Formats: sequence, structure tokens, C-alpha cells
Amino acid sequence: MDLVSSRGNDPHVVVVGAGVGGLTAGALLLKAGYRVTVLEAQAYPGGCAGTFAYQGYRFDAGATLAGGFAPGGPHQRLAKALGLDWPIDPVDPAWVVHLPDGRQVTQWADPAAWEAEWRAVFPESGDFWRRQSKLADLSWDVSSRPFPWPPQSPGEAARLAASLRPRTLAALPHLGRRVADLLPAGASPMLRSFVDANLLISAQCTAAEAGALYGSAALDLPRRGVNAVRGGIGAIAETLVAWIRAQGGEIGFKQTVERIELRDGRAVALHIQARRRAGTRRVIACDQVLANVTPWALQRLLGEAAPAGLRRETRRLGETWGACMLYLGLDASKLPVDMPDHHQVIVDADRPLGETNSVFLSISDARHPDRAPAGRRAANISTHTAIAPWWALREDPAGETAYLERRVRYTEAMLDAAERAVPGLKSAVELCLPATPVTYQHWTGRPRGMVGGFPQGSIFAARGPRTAIPNLWLVGDSIFPGQSTAGVTLGGMRVAEAVLGGGRGPGRG
Ligand SMILES: Cc1cc2nc3c(=O)[nH]c(=O)nc-3n(C[C@H](O)[C@H](O)[C@H](O)COP(=O)(O)OP(=O)(O)OC[C@H]3O[C@@H](n4cnc5c(N)ncnc54)[C@H](O)[C@@H]3O)c2cc1C
Repeated sequence: MDLVSSRGNDPHVVVVGAGVGGLTAGALLLKAGYRVTVLEAQAYPGGCAGTFAYQGYRFDAGATLAGGFAPGGPHQRLAKALGLDWPIDPVDPAWVVHLPDGRQVTQWADPAAWEAEWRAVFPESGDFWRRQSKLADLSWDVSSRPFPWPPQSPGEAARLAASLRPRTLAALPHLGRRVADLLPAGASPMLRSFVDANLLISAQCTAAEAGALYGSAALDLPRRGVNAVRGGIGAIAETLVAWIRAQGGEIGFKQTVERIELRDGRAVALHIQARRRAGTRRVIACDQVLANVTPWALQRLLGEAAPAGLRRETRRLGETWGACMLYLGLDASKLPVDMPDHHQVIVDADRPLGETNSVFLSISDARHPDRAPAGRRAANISTHTAIAPWWALREDPAGETAYLERRVRYTEAMLDAAERAVPGLKSAVELCLPATPVTYQHWTGRPRGMVGGFPQGSIFAARGPRTAIPNLWLVGDSIFPGQSTAGVTLGGMRVAEAVLGGGRGPGRG
């Protein structure tokens, strides 16, 4: 494809990767007058929140449920800024949590229904939910305005100060606290498991580590509105791609950026491998680069030229989580009727979560028949997993059999766990594609298949988008506020604003 933009004389922003974070920042900069080119290694956009086609199914690659579309939410604010509509349908209940003791907790969107639910299942937890909901209100309030955290320039410090309100002061005593500090001393193992499992999928850590403010907002997700996306979650990214193209921006699929070239301390060009024409390498010039990748991937793209600070960062950071996933084709006639589509199962309260001891099951919405062939439903089962054991087997020349055996063990354990939520599920499986961190590395370009960004523990450890190179920015779930389509949308808005210098028009920065 020809990547010459119709806005030839405007400063040129190149976005590496068509994840939701990169597309959001790219779209906002296009609107502000920049020439924008997005380069995506795969044939479809969305990365971890993409949807791929296989044998008549449309499978969600990772994310299945999307929040942040309610008034003031990141997706709603972005839609307003760009003048677009999202193809979404609300989901209520958001999901059902299946506790190890066999009880179920239904995550209702309606606050009154939710209060009745926790009163019935966790009668000891009233103080906890009252404090959680107050802190969640504070967090959502702050995040509904530009909130450039951590501030990385005097302009951002000023904007951050302007976004605070007198009521925000109530958050100050909680800045250093964890969600575990809010739980009653006598909290039952089931309440602890419930809270931990919810935080693991939203904050990438459990109550002992998750910051009280971030974690409270994360626990409130079902009440803030959760949605199924028509055509699959990838339609969020597809909507942004269509908007960017309609406004004269360029999107190049099957274009892998192999190297970011620096000159005099600035990013000046991108070296690209076009997959369609094997061996075809091209170079395009840029004024600003938004890297929708992890810090490890950014280091690879910079090679020998990677700044010392970035090298130190990638050495210092521990590995983040990986995911194992099953993409399932189900015979719809063998599924229970009128059941919710999303389930979280905790198998054993005495074992750590993840590694098949907790799984998240999503079945495609019956309102969206295009997700599967007639009479079928597409489904996902995922579990958090440590990446190192998978790679140890993969990189061992004699490890292939052990790697495949481990994948079979995980597949069976994930199906067993999901069967606890949806009896008959296993008998409905007609197609089963397993994925491990090795698969995620291949399809999302994230080194070692690390997904979900950094655990949201102390807010003071959060990473911002700046790199030591003034016109090179990180965007996506490695920067605050981290994972989820809503989280990376907030991050993408913040990056666009930082590139714009807080409201000034396009410049060469
Ligand atoms: C199993 C799983 C379940 C999840 N569940 C949910 C959920 O239910 N709800 C939710 O909101 N979030 C969920 N998430 C998290 C959410 O999907 C991610 O946080 C978010 O989509 C990450 O967006 P990103 O902008 O960081 O980009 P990414 O998703 O990382 O996408 C980056 C893109 O860049 C491309 N790329 C990378 N390197 C290059 C290169 N060198 N050249 C060209 N292109 C490149 C990749 O191909 C990819 O398309 C889940 C994630 C996983 C893995």
C-alpha cells in the first residue's frame, strides 16, 4: 500500500501498532491537524482487544467486556471529541462470580440490586462496600477530567492541579493504602477470594497490593456499565480505523516496524518490513512517534540506541502476567437457556489465583449472531499465568513435548473450571484453539507474551508516557492507568495532549 498522506505538509505522527491506545492518540492528533500514519504488524487492528476470524467465528483475542462508555467515561468522551458512535450493547449482569464453596455472586449493574446481592452473600461486608463505593466515586470523578499522572512536565503538573477539586482532597489519606486495608479484619475467605479475583482481572494484582483508590474504582466496574461490542471487541479498534481513514489518516496493515532510527537524540525515521511483499523494507520519516508497545518492545525497536534509562527500567521491572486462553466454538443447543454470558470461576480459595485456579469465561452475545456460524456461539476462557515456565519449555530444544503436554493440562483444567459455571459446556465444544504466552507474543508483538500492563499497586510507581527521547512516546497499557480498553483510551488521550503541548496546535515539538 502507498503510505503517502493527503496531509503532506503537516507534521507527521507515526503510530507503531493499532492497539486501542495507539489508535486513540493517533485519531486525536489527526483531528488536531497532524498528518497521522498507523503501522500495524497484523492484518487486523486491536491487539489484545482485537477480534480475529476463524472458520466462520469471530473470536475476541483477549478482552471480551468493555467499560467506560457511560457519560464521562473515556470511550464516551472520545466519541464526543471525534463525533463517532460505538457499536455497543449493555450487559447486565456484567458477570457472575462462582465462589469455591459453590455460591454465586451476580455482578448487577443496578446499585440497589448489587447491594441486595452483597448483603445476601457477604453480610459482614457492609462497611467495606460503603468505603469502596466512596473511593470509587472519587477516582471516577478525577478520571473524568484530564489527569496526566504522573506529571512529567510543568504543563502537566499545572493541568493536574487544575483537574483537582476540593472534594478530591478526601482521597489524600488513601493514596498510600491498599484495598486489603479496607477489608474488615474478620473478612471471610470467600469475600477475600471474591475481591482478589475481581482485582486480578482489573488491576493485575490482588487486594494486598492493589492501591485503594484504583482498586475501588476497578471493583465498581459493573456499576459503571459494561458492554458487549457488536461484531466482537475488535469493533472498537475497527471503528477508530474507519474514522482515521475517513479523515485522511493512513493505516497500514501487515507493516511491522523493525527499528526506530534516532539522529541527534530524536526519532527521525521508522524502518518497516511489509509482510505482504516478503523482504520489502521501507523507511518513512516522522516528526513524532507513538509506540503502542511495552517498554521491552520499545527497547528492541531502538536496539543499540536505546537510552540507558530504558535499559535500566526493563532490567529492574519484574515480568508481568501472561495469559492462557481457549477460543471455543460451541453448539448453542447444548448450552443452558437464559444464562448470563460472562462468568468468573474461582476453584479453590486456598490456592493462588490464576494458573487455572481462576478463569474468566465469555460467551458471545446472542444479540450478535455474526460472531459464529448458525446455531453456534463463540467463547473464550482465560486464566492468568506466569510466563517463565512456558518460555523455559519453548526455548529448551527438548521441551516441545513437555510444552504441548502442559498446554493440554491447562486446556483440560480451564474447561473443568468453566463447566462449574455452565453445566454442559464441555459437551458443547466443537472447536478448541488453545493460546499461551508464546501465542500472545506472536499475535500481539508483546515480548514474551506479557499482557495486561503493570500491576496497579502504589500510584507513586505509575509509569508515564515519556521516554528519554523527546519526540518518542509510549502509549497503551504500560502507561498509567494501565490495562483495559477504557484505561488505554485515557492513556491515549493523555499522550495526544502531551504531544500537543497542552492545547497548542501541531508543531515539530
Ligand atoms: C486475556 C486478556 C483478557 C482481557 N480482558 C479484558 C476485558 O475483558 N476488558 C478490557 O477492557 N480489557 C481486557 N484486557 C486488556 C486489554 O485488552 C488491553 O489492556 C488493551 O487492549 C491493550 O491495548 P494497547 O493499546 O496497549 O495495545 P495492544 O493490545 O498491546 O496492541 C498493540 C498493537 O501493536 C501491534 N504491534 C506491536 N509491535 C508492533 C510493531 N513493531 N510494528 C507494528 N505493529 C506492532 C500489535 O500487533 C498490536 O495490534 C484483556 C487482556 C487480555 C490479554
